Amino acid sequence: MLKVEGINVYYGAIHAIKDISFEVNRGEIVTLIGANGAGKTTTLQTISGLLRSRTGSITFQGHNISNVRADKLVAQGLAQVPEGRRVFLQMSVQENLEMGAYTQSPAGVPKDLEMVFELFPRLKERRNQVAGTLSGGEQQMLAMGRALMSHPQLLMLDEPSMGLAPLLVEQIFEIIQNLNKQGSTILLVEQNAQMALSVAHRGYVLETGKIVTTGTGEELICSPEIKKAYLGG
Ligand code: ATP
Repeated sequence: MLKVEGINVYYGAIHAIKDISFEVNRGEIVTLIGANGAGKTTTLQTISGLLRSRTGSITFQGHNISNVRADKLVAQGLAQVPEGRRVFLQMSVQENLEMGAYTQSPAGVPKDLEMVFELFPRLKERRNQVAGTLSGGEQQMLAMGRALMSHPQLLMLDEPSMGLAPLLVEQIFEIIQNLNKQGSTILLVEQNAQMALSVAHRGYVLETGKIVTTGTGEELICSPEIKKAYLGG
């Protein structure tokens, strides 16, 4: 579904992404794990059209999307939940969700709202609450719900566990697994390697802008090197 081949991304003179290639197949949860600054967010932002690669290609559902703008990609079925949620703080929960549906026909929005409220009952209870007053976990749910309003073929999540209490992290990962079981393909960027590898079909390990290891979630979680470097021994 998504094929990234030989991308190189720079911030001025800083070479942040060094010849990265990987793919995500329909129906998979694929995770990119790595330490702070490894290049995970840069990779996602390059796929979603917010940054440009100097080389290589990015193919999504058979189309080259290397030079397609972010807003056009949403209409093509690619949605990103950014790091730090970035919900519209002054708007209500429902208004945030409606913003996520900007590529959809208005007639379908009430049904899609119900679909999101079924997944996240907490959001339904708070549909009229201003998003800025939601807890961190609720904001993460809202950011995910907003992305789902665009009917994505591929959902990209940037550090959904960031700043959340352990119980909430488990809830968010359960929801990610449920979404996948219902047919969503997911590319998951995480520093919480343990959780990410426990739900992912496959994973790639990024170190200073390069992919250094790949394998199934199970292989990576059992690998002594990965255990030592990313799973606390
Ligand atoms: P984290 O888990 O801490 O979010 P990450 O793996 O997502 O890290 P990136 O945010 O992609 O890492 O950063 C990769 C590298 O690019 C880092 O060395 C970072 O300092 C650098 N970088 C990121 N954004 C910029 C920017 N706007 N200008 C200059 N350098 C940047």
